[in-house]
Amino acid sequence: MPSNKKLLILPGDGIGPEVVREVRRVIDWMDRRRAVTFEIDEGLVGGSAIDVEGTPCSDATVAKAKSADAVLFGSVGGPKWDSLPFEQRPELGILRLRKDLGLFANLRPALVMDPLVDASSLKPDIVRGVDIMVVRESTGGVYFGEPRGVETLPDGKRRGFDTDVYHEDEIARVARVAFDLARKRRGKVTSVEKANVMQSGRLWRAVVGEIHKAEYADVQLENMYADNCAMQLCSRPKQFDVILGNNLFGDVLSDLAAALTGSLGMLPSATLGAVDPTTGKRHALYEPIHGSAPDIAGKGIANPLAQILSFAMLLRWSFGMEEDAALVEQAVGKVLAGGLRTADIMQPGMARVGTTVMGEAVVRELDKLSA
Ligand code: NAD
Repeated sequence: MPSNKKLLILPGDGIGPEVVREVRRVIDWMDRRRAVTFEIDEGLVGGSAIDVEGTPCSDATVAKAKSADAVLFGSVGGPKWDSLPFEQRPELGILRLRKDLGLFANLRPALVMDPLVDASSLKPDIVRGVDIMVVRESTGGVYFGEPRGVETLPDGKRRGFDTDVYHEDEIARVARVAFDLARKRRGKVTSVEKANVMQSGRLWRAVVGEIHKAEYADVQLENMYADNCAMQLCSRPKQFDVILGNNLFGDVLSDLAAALTGSLGMLPSATLGAVDPTTGKRHALYEPIHGSAPDIAGKGIANPLAQILSFAMLLRWSFGMEEDAALVEQAVGKVLAGGLRTADIMQPGMARVGTTVMGEAVVRELDKLSA
């Protein structure tokens, strides 16, 4: 029988391979203890792909990604490749994958785990219990809209310009992702734009409202101006469940929501494509939000939890393995509650450990939880 758990792993550069190794430990555990077998392929991406294949993401890697049920991505980039021209940089590897797989909905959870509540720069009372999912449209809007450029005017002065443009279908498909997510969470979507000053924002609000009325009346919809949302995230973040935004506002607000948790090494993400109407499947890529951290690469001290939590998202959204996803998330919570910390989340009185010990501890907790 063909596998429906075809997984492509692209470790990338810097700490990418180090943290992905810890996910392999979790995968081995699932194979051993829960009899879940994945069909795994690996590939090169980023700087390591430039070194071997001459390009940050080869056609062969894209083909593998297209035929996989999900892609687990590490991170790319590093000083070795910093002097390359823009069109050859490692970061283009991830951009090509997003574009070629049509990954338009970026999901970034901002979850404040109780043991790490002091890691936030906000007061514990404000952030304790925060559990937000930011859904960002990631292939349209002002980062791609035409015309764009810098021109020199007749008086010799320069003028820079970009275009924020959205087709209603682009808004509708990402809105559906947000509403579907809200149904599985606490049933509320906050859609952000600047409908007061932007035409594309007016259309955004109208289309989200139409989709809501026609298909998701059971979900609560709230419209909020993006600047107000930024303020509310800092003052009353617990009011939010799912935040839906365009490429620009989603980018800024997901970083702000991430900052509430105070720890880059803890945050996973997913980017989803459209559901294929014939197979019911969708392309999806899962990665931590952090980069390749060249400053600590090779030292064995990187926090593997964001990568492991990205794998939990993959189990949930691509393989429908809710129970296993929750188990992995619980194991991470238990390890933190037990006092283990990598250097990036170190707190007084806790035990400092490296990447491998942290990965092993997660597997030990998985064992205990499923005993
Ligand atoms: P970064 O996220 O790599 O690192 C920022 C800081 O956080 C560093 O001090 C790093 O040591 C620390 N850090 C990050 N992840 C950590 C982890 N898991 N455990 C412990 N500490 C961690 O961001 P940067 O320094 O701006 O970028 C470094 C490289 O990564 C650049 O080449 C950049 O282009 C690339 N990058 C890639 C991606 C991606 O692959 N999607 C995303 C962001 C940055």
